[in-house]
Amino acid sequence: MASIGFIGVGNMGGPMAINLVKAGHQVKVFDLSAELVQQVVAQGAQRAATVQDAACDVDVLISMLPSGQIVEDLYIHQTGLLDHINPRTLVIDCSTIAPENAINLAQAAKVKDIVTLDAPVSGGVGGAKAGTLTFIVGGDKSAFEKAEPILRNMGKSVFHAGNHGAGQMAKICNNMLLAVHMIGTAEALQLGVDNGLDPQVLSQIMLQSSGRNWSLELYNPYPGVMPNVPASNNYDGGFQTNLMNKDLGLALEAALKSQSSTPMGYLAKSLYGLHGRKGFGKKDFSSIQKMFEKD
Ligand code: NAD
Repeated sequence: MASIGFIGVGNMGGPMAINLVKAGHQVKVFDLSAELVQQVVAQGAQRAATVQDAACDVDVLISMLPSGQIVEDLYIHQTGLLDHINPRTLVIDCSTIAPENAINLAQAAKVKDIVTLDAPVSGGVGGAKAGTLTFIVGGDKSAFEKAEPILRNMGKSVFHAGNHGAGQMAKICNNMLLAVHMIGTAEALQLGVDNGLDPQVLSQIMLQSSGRNWSLELYNPYPGVMPNVPASNNYDGGFQTNLMNKDLGLALEAALKSQSSTPMGYLAKSLYGLHGRKGFGKKDFSSIQKMFEKD
């Protein structure tokens, strides 16, 4: 069993850290929110007194943070956490950030003989709780092989996408597609409801037809159709609209660089941007359903 430091125990990091505890690892956790730390400590983790304490003297350090700026500030700039990490510690950043942020971290770490991996995840809060996440990893193959057994304690699929930043690039492509099919699902459901259909029945029909997709199958955005999803919990918990907006921004930045054409991603970014400005920034991204609702 490994000793593991875990930084960022929010919607995703909390259940991921708990699954590591359940797998028998010694887990030290840190978050800016003492309340969130307490929830993980109650499940058997140790409380790290400081972020440096979480990072020192562990086999593996995992971070699950909101943005690339925060990741770079933590490891490289403001906090300079890399100065406190032993070279034997493998650093796995699971946050969704730009490939450039992941490459910057890998290069700054290499100067100090520290090995990093970018390992963003897919599967949402439900997947984090159930331990069924998909990990999309970028970095050296040998480090990937070392990380894989640990990641399998939190997920059921672990992919090596390529070198540093490749994990992030694959994740960004996935989330652009997720945004597009979530919006498409929401507008189709509202069209049906506006024309007298029951959203539950319509969902069942589309699930057995060619409109089937992940949003419909596991994350139905229409309130009351599916239990245990944010739509049936006033769109609380889950994946914030603000975070989806961040990921769509990363997709558009990548598209600009590679001169790729991403018209659906561009439209999704506009719609999610507007949705965030209308007060839904901290609500789950499936709340885009509300945009289509009749007044
Ligand atoms: P969240 O806001 O619930 O959690 C982030 C946590 O990081 C918070 O608890 C916050 O207090 C903590 N934090 C911020 N700065 C910190 C610092 N400097 N030191 C220590 N802790 C700090 O967000 P989340 O939904 O858990 O998402 C985390 C990451 O996972 C994001 O990059 C997101 O894009 C990605 N992601 C989220 C989902 C999802 O469904 N929520 C799915 C896949 C990927």
